[in-house]
Amino acid sequence: MGKKAAGGGDREDPDKKLRIAIVNSDRCKPKKCKQECKTHCPVVRTGKLCVEVSKDSKISWISETLCIGCGICVKKCPFEASFVC
Ligand code: SF4
Ligand code: SF4
Repeated sequence: MGKKAAGGGDREDPDKKLRIAIVNSDRCKPKKCKQECKTHCPVVRTGKLCVEVSKDSKISWISETLCIGCGICVKKCPFEASFVC
């Protein structure tokens, strides 16, 4: 576990950290969780707006440019609503 599967990327530009962050609108329930995706995000903890969500939000929003792809939000979400790669 923990190993990255070989992807189709044949070029790696260290200046371009492109992430794909998906929040499933059917599963994400900010009113019913503790916004774990935001509270546990290490980037948010440094003061950056990597994850935006509050109890009044419809769904969580993840910044694909700020996200470092650690996957913590994916593991912490009680509803398995977020997916980051
Ligand atoms: S992604 Fe998960 S933890 Fe984050 S607001 Fe949605 S349901 Fe809550
Ligand atoms: S993958 Fe990590 S850095 Fe990206 S939003 Fe989730 S917790 Fe934050």
